[in-house]
Amino acid sequence: MRYKLIIFGKFTHIPKVGHDIGQVGVLNNRNMESIGRRRFVKQTVTAAAALAVPASAFAELIPTALQFSQVALPYAANALEPNIDALTMEIHYGKHHAAYIKNVNDAIAAENITFTSEKDFFANTSKLSAKARNNGGGAWNHNFFWQVMKPNGGMPTGKIADAINGAFGSVDKFKEQFTQAAMTRFGSGWAWLVKDGNTLKIGSTPNQDNPMMDVSELKGTPLLALDVWEHAYYLKYQNKRNEYVANWWNVVNWDEVAKRLN
Ligand code: MN
Repeated sequence: MRYKLIIFGKFTHIPKVGHDIGQVGVLNNRNMESIGRRRFVKQTVTAAAALAVPASAFAELIPTALQFSQVALPYAANALEPNIDALTMEIHYGKHHAAYIKNVNDAIAAENITFTSEKDFFANTSKLSAKARNNGGGAWNHNFFWQVMKPNGGMPTGKIADAINGAFGSVDKFKEQFTQAAMTRFGSGWAWLVKDGNTLKIGSTPNQDNPMMDVSELKGTPLLALDVWEHAYYLKYQNKRNEYVANWWNVVNWDEVAKRLN
C-alpha cells in the first residue's frame, strides 16, 4: 500500500489561530509501516494532548479558504518622502489597503469562496463577484506595491538590468514605455512590468485588476507595479500624475524586482 500521511501541514492562512505552526508530523511509507497505524494514531493523539492545543483549534488546521492579510509596511510611512508623502502613505496603507483586505475576506466568507491559494483565486476571477474581484485585486496589488518600493531606489543592476536592456533596449527606454503605460491608463488602475514565459512585457490594468487574473488582457508574473489611482498621489501631486510617476522612479526597489525574475 502506498500512502503518505501528513498530519498537520503548514498552511499559509490560518485565520483564527493567528499564526503559523510548524509542520509537526510527517510520515512516509516506511516509517508508517514500521510504526503501525494504531500506534501512530495513539502517538498523534498523545502529541496533540502534549501540545495542549484545544480540540477546537484542530478544525482550523484543515486547509481553509484563502484569507488575505496585509503585509507590514517595509519602511516608515515617511520613508519615501519627498517622492511619496507620509500622509498619502498613511491613508493609502492604513485606510484604502486595509479596506480592500477586510472587504475581500468578507466576500470570501459571505460568498463561500473556496479557493485556497491566491493563484487559484486570481486564475478564477471570472467566476467571482465584483466585490471579490475588486477587493482581492486591491489586497494583493498593494501588498506587492509596498514591497517593490524603498527609500533611495537607485537604478537596476545585474540580471534585472540585463533583462530590461534585452527586452526594451535600455533602462531609459523601459522607463519611457512604462511611464507611457502609467499615463495612458484612463481613470484608475495600475501599470505593470510582467514576465510572461521568457518575455518581459509592459502594460496596464483597470481598477484593481492584475495580470494574474484570467480576465486580464495583460498576463504574466508581476515584477513591478505602479498604482495610478488618484488616491496614490492626489494629496501631493493633485492632477499631475506625470510628476508622481517621474518621482516614483526614485523609490523603486530593484532588488525586489530582480528577486521576482527567477
Ligand atoms: Mn492604491
